[in-house]
Amino acid sequence: MKAVGINGYGTIGKRVADAVAAQDDMKLAGVTKRTPDFESKMAVEKGYPLYISVPEREELFEEAGIKISGTIEDFYDKVDVIVDATPEGIGAKNMEIYKKLGIKSTFQGGEKHDQIGKSFNSFANFKDSIGADYVRVVSCNTTGLCRTLKPINDLAGIKKVRAVMVRRGADPAQVKKGPINAIVPNPPTVPSHHGPDVQTVMNGLNITTMALLVPTTLMHQHNLMVELENSVSADDVIDKLENTPRVILVEASKGLGSTAQIMEYAKDLGRPRSDLFEIAVWKESINVVDGELYYMQAVHQESDVVPENVDAIRAMLEIEEDPAKSIAKTNKAMGIKG
Ligand code: NAD
Repeated sequence: MKAVGINGYGTIGKRVADAVAAQDDMKLAGVTKRTPDFESKMAVEKGYPLYISVPEREELFEEAGIKISGTIEDFYDKVDVIVDATPEGIGAKNMEIYKKLGIKSTFQGGEKHDQIGKSFNSFANFKDSIGADYVRVVSCNTTGLCRTLKPINDLAGIKKVRAVMVRRGADPAQVKKGPINAIVPNPPTVPSHHGPDVQTVMNGLNITTMALLVPTTLMHQHNLMVELENSVSADDVIDKLENTPRVILVEASKGLGSTAQIMEYAKDLGRPRSDLFEIAVWKESINVVDGELYYMQAVHQESDVVPENVDAIRAMLEIEEDPAKSIAKTNKAMGIKG
């Protein structure tokens, strides 16, 4: 069975580690850490081989009583593919090391498309990554946009998309990021980078985006206006999204009128870390006016890209070449809506 290693066991990395460990057609060979903190301790407790990315820090891990399986050099020997989930900009530098060693890798949305050369979304362009060596899983916002725009494009054809993204200011554990009392156009320029990012996986889509940061940590919220090629009703769109994997419809009238309530729902579902891997679309928001579709959705930024990393590994290692089969397999193993 092919061995997967996680370089950068943080917000995304630890979730992808659990998702890989849950699959039966790949194995988790290890994770890397720089600091002997609670995440290092818990990785070892879960039985994940822990390698240190800064070999000079071995003593610190010893002092903390955290058993390591080796250094990053040992880690490279053990893996067929790396999920690089290091902070923005480091992945592209690591790619040079992986290239020298001949190890395949997925990267995250913080890296630039041009530096990695190929971007990935399970629904939009899985097949482009079959056998590929280096693939970037698009960002949480872009993943959220693709998850709903792809089925809508399949249903009715898209002439033009305009989207406004209300972005969380920080992840819940990021105590030094903000804003804590402001609304910040971010980026302040129009269009934002999100539209071009969608185009890296949905080639030719006419999309323009604007984005702002707000003082919340829970989720992103998106507002979409989509001009359609063919006439469809709101019910047709509801039906399509209801039958789309990794998308759920939520209703304000049933107590799910905000990102806070949607996160509460994820807790009640008993999801690990209260993650919501699916994109939540507000059913009441779906409307078609003069051939233009309107809807609002919420994106759990810490977890929506996790299943896409698993699918990207299957495509790159040619474990599965049919996107629908990979998506279904990942979903089943992770308890995601299929
Ligand atoms: P994070 O800071 O939570 O985790 C990064 C991990 O990498 C940490 O454990 C850190 O100690 C480790 N690290 C730092 N430097 C390293 C190095 N040189 N070598 C090995 N490990 C190193 O970051 P994150 O939020 O998980 O983001 C990782 C990537 O995922 C970024 O590209 C980010 O843009 C992208 N992403 C983040 C989110 C999100 O909401 N957090 C969503 C989608 C994509």
